[in-house]
Amino acid sequence: MQKKADLHVHTNLSDSTFTPEEVVRYATKIGLAAIAICDHDVVDGIDPAVEEAKKHGIEVIPGVELSAEYRNRELHILGYFIDHRNKGFRKKLQKTCRARIGRIHKMLAMLKKKGIDLAPEDVFSIGGEGSVGRLHLAVAMFKKGLVGSVPEAFKKYIGDGGPCYVSNFNFTPERAIYEIVKAGGVPVLAHPYIAKLDKAIPHFVKHGLMGLEVYHPEHSPSTVKHYEDMARQQGLLITGGSDCHGQGKSRILMGTVSVPYEIVDRLKAAARAE
Ligand code: AMP
Ligand code: ZN
Ligand code: FE
Ligand code: FE
Repeated sequence: MQKKADLHVHTNLSDSTFTPEEVVRYATKIGLAAIAICDHDVVDGIDPAVEEAKKHGIEVIPGVELSAEYRNRELHILGYFIDHRNKGFRKKLQKTCRARIGRIHKMLAMLKKKGIDLAPEDVFSIGGEGSVGRLHLAVAMFKKGLVGSVPEAFKKYIGDGGPCYVSNFNFTPERAIYEIVKAGGVPVLAHPYIAKLDKAIPHFVKHGLMGLEVYHPEHSPSTVKHYEDMARQQGLLITGGSDCHGQGKSRILMGTVSVPYEIVDRLKAAARAE
């Protein structure tokens, strides 16, 4: 059987409901050969996942999903095979995590004006010790009965560009790419369909972008074809993953999108060549 890898998995250090150990056990159960832990702006889920993986013979790839802002849009840059112990890199992530806390307070103030009254603790008690974000806020709104569902929270209030959306990220995409490369990683544009910034991709390539996440649950077959073609034209690596958030999405997505293990070898080679 062909070895498969899911190159985009979250843990509860960001906004999944699964601990790093649960992520590894689930990935083992469904027969994946490798997973990349790519939490939003935090790398603390990697070491516990690596430890657990030793018991199961599965490979854990150190990764990250950096938030960046470009022309009033939120954009995510994945970093593969980063040195997650790099002190300078970790310091920058800590700064982003602090900004994320401030951003929740700002969004809560905006929601209050719309009649949605939540205490900061309602959100922070859901977010773990890592990075806090909009999925935690949406779950808090749902739990309090302030919206009928998590997607409704995004649709009505906190989705990209929504009335209570706050961006508040430190990095431009160029900077995020630079920081990933500096930490020894391979920078890849996450779910480009969601980012909707095709025209800017050649510019990001000039700044060191090395890949596109072509396979993603929100990419239709025609979207996949579109980004496969673009990756070839631009000489970029092709990656893919499920963006699994445990029970944080309507279902457990891990393994529903995966790539052949050769892609992992290509990412490793690219990281070594830097
Ligand atoms: P943040 O990093 O705080 O901006 O939150 C980003 C996370 O919010 C993504 O990883 C998604 O899990 C989630 N998200 C963004 N937009 C939506 C949406 N429309 N519906 C459900 N979840 C969303
Ligand atoms: Zn997320
Ligand atoms: Fe993302
Ligand atoms: Fe993600």
